[in-house]
Amino acid sequence: MGAGVDPHRYLPTAGDRGKLESAHLVFFSGLHLEGKMTDTFEKARGRIRGVPVTRDIPREDLRPAEGEGGPDSQFDPHVWFDVRLWMKPVECVRAELAALDPAGADQYRRNADAYLKELAALDAEVRQKLTRVPPEKRVLVTSHDAFGYFGRAYGFEVKGLQGVSTASETGTPDRQKLAEFLGTRKIPAVFTETSVPDAGLKAVLDTARNDYGHSVRLVGGDDALFSDALGVPGSPGGTYPGMVRHNVDVIVEALAR
Ligand SMILES: [Zn+2]
Repeated sequence: MGAGVDPHRYLPTAGDRGKLESAHLVFFSGLHLEGKMTDTFEKARGRIRGVPVTRDIPREDLRPAEGEGGPDSQFDPHVWFDVRLWMKPVECVRAELAALDPAGADQYRRNADAYLKELAALDAEVRQKLTRVPPEKRVLVTSHDAFGYFGRAYGFEVKGLQGVSTASETGTPDRQKLAEFLGTRKIPAVFTETSVPDAGLKAVLDTARNDYGHSVRLVGGDDALFSDALGVPGSPGGTYPGMVRHNVDVIVEALAR
C-alpha cells in the first residue's frame, strides 16, 4: 500500500497477490487492520508465509474494538500510536528475520536494537512535547477512531466520527452526536487524516456552527494527521518516527494555545 492509502478498505490486486506469493516472508499488521486482505492471507495460507507483526503484543494490552471494527475483529488494531507498544512488533520482525536467514541474524539484532533505542527516545520526546497541552485541552477529535492507543498512552480523550474501521459509512445521528460534543465541550479544533476523506468532518463542523453556534478549526491540508498510512517516501512523514513527530507537532500547535 502506498502513501495515504486506507488499509481498512484496501483490496489487493492480482499483481499484489503475485508479489505476496513470491515473497520469502510477508509482514502485515494484523488484528484485522487489513480488513479486506484477511481473505487473501487465509485462502493463500501455505502459499504465503505471512506474519502479523502484532502477534506478540499481550492481549491484555490491546483495546477492545467498540462498535463495528469489521468482521470478527475483537481488538482495536491501531496499536502503533502507543510508541512503547509498537516496540513489540520490532521484536517480532527481528525474530522472524533471524529465523529465516540465520547468516544475517547478528545484523538483524544490531539493527533492531538500534531501532528499539530510537523508539524509546521517541516515546520520551512525545511525552515531553505533549506537556505543552494543558489537561483541559487534551481532546483529540478525528475522522475515525484510530487514536485510542495514543489517548491511553499519552492522556488524551479521543473521539472519532467513524469507529475503529472506516469500512462503514456514517449517518446523520453520528454527525449530530459529534457536533453536540464539539458544541457543548467548546472543542477548538478537529483533525483530518491523510487516508480518510474529510467530507464527514466538514458536515459535522457545519452542524456545530448552525445548531450550537460554535466554530471549530479544521486542521487539515499539510497538517492532516498520519493515521493509518505513512507519507510519501523521503518526506518527513515517510517513516514511522517521522509520522509520529508530525502528528504530535500538529496536535501541540493546534491545542496548546
Ligand atoms: Zn484505522
